[in-house]
Amino acid sequence: MSKMIYLDHAATTRTLPEVTKAMEPYLDIYYGNPSTIYEFGEKSRDAIEHARETIARTIHARPEEIFFTSGGTESDNWALKEAVSHYERTHEKEKGCILTTPVEHHAILNSCQELEQMGCGISFLKVDQTGRVILKEVEQTITERKNVCLLSVMYANNEIGTIEPIDELGSLARKLGVIFHTDAVQAYGHLPIHVGRDRIDMLSASAHKFGGPKGVGFLYIRSKINLPAFIHGGAQESNRRAGTENVPGIVGMGKAAELAHKRMRMENRKVRYLRDYLAYRILQEIPDVIMTGNRKFRLFNNASFCFKGITGEAAAILLDTQGICVSSGSACSTGSLEDSHVLTAIGIDSQWAQGAVRFTLGAENTREEIEYVVDKVKMVVADMRGS
Ligand code: PLP
Repeated sequence: MSKMIYLDHAATTRTLPEVTKAMEPYLDIYYGNPSTIYEFGEKSRDAIEHARETIARTIHARPEEIFFTSGGTESDNWALKEAVSHYERTHEKEKGCILTTPVEHHAILNSCQELEQMGCGISFLKVDQTGRVILKEVEQTITERKNVCLLSVMYANNEIGTIEPIDELGSLARKLGVIFHTDAVQAYGHLPIHVGRDRIDMLSASAHKFGGPKGVGFLYIRSKINLPAFIHGGAQESNRRAGTENVPGIVGMGKAAELAHKRMRMENRKVRYLRDYLAYRILQEIPDVIMTGNRKFRLFNNASFCFKGITGEAAAILLDTQGICVSSGSACSTGSLEDSHVLTAIGIDSQWAQGAVRFTLGAENTREEIEYVVDKVKMVVADMRGS
């Protein structure tokens, strides 16, 4: 098999052909600046508003609650930094505290680190061995600490695929008067999301994780949440995120959102079947391997394992020579041989954590590809173990 087999959809996805086609006119035909008053600029403005409406519909929000950003990282930075800043402004400069989890993406963890240096409190919730937060601890911490200004818990984990109890967290946060943010970068476009039902106040998403282009995303901010502007300059995005809009990117994200929601049920069924087949064969045919994450509350495309006695990094490189793209832990931490912070948080011993390999499937994968991958994984693991 000479063609590449792509099993790293949590790192990024292919921009769908329909998306590229929708974006193209906004590069070379309708290139007007959306802030201009003439009709040519209005074309771009209309396209942005159409995308905003489409995206709002997919999460049952209002269009004016959707703010376009440069992606998941920016949306996370905005949510955290401005929630803290808002708290300080409205509490006579009293320092707030963010309640989050140790399994978040670095966009959250490193923003927290930065805020901590500026005097903000950061409190980490415990997670169980599958990476799910322990709910009763949430209520206890919020009640005891009194200055919690934000609860930020990811919708689904990028390394192990575990889905968090978002509806329960949302209800708790609302009951206790704390703003609830969720990093839904891995979930949006793959799971149905209802911000009203789940009492989500803020939600981050990124287009390149669901068939859209890179470098564009959005932050949902519930209209009742008075979050300050993040980038200052022009009046774009209702004066809250200045800068000329990435019109082709936003159009592409709108199209990708529409397609992802139209195809979600069918694609999830297919991807889940292939993922289960891959997991079954790996667990049956390779000794000394564990599957990490939650079996029940799990993204349909995620199969993450720890193989004892190998390094995941080297396995990914060897699989690459066989035309297979996988990740050892999260893509963003590739290059570092430290144990993944997610695996450490769920109590995986270092000798297992070093052998972490993540397979994330997409609707374009086939059973034939998975069969080839299983054979190659068996071969690579056996070679590395010298067995
Ligand atoms: N949050 C999560 C859970 C992610 O998986 C990622 C990317 O992998 C991000 C945030 C960052 O998103 P972006 O690549 O759009 O900046």
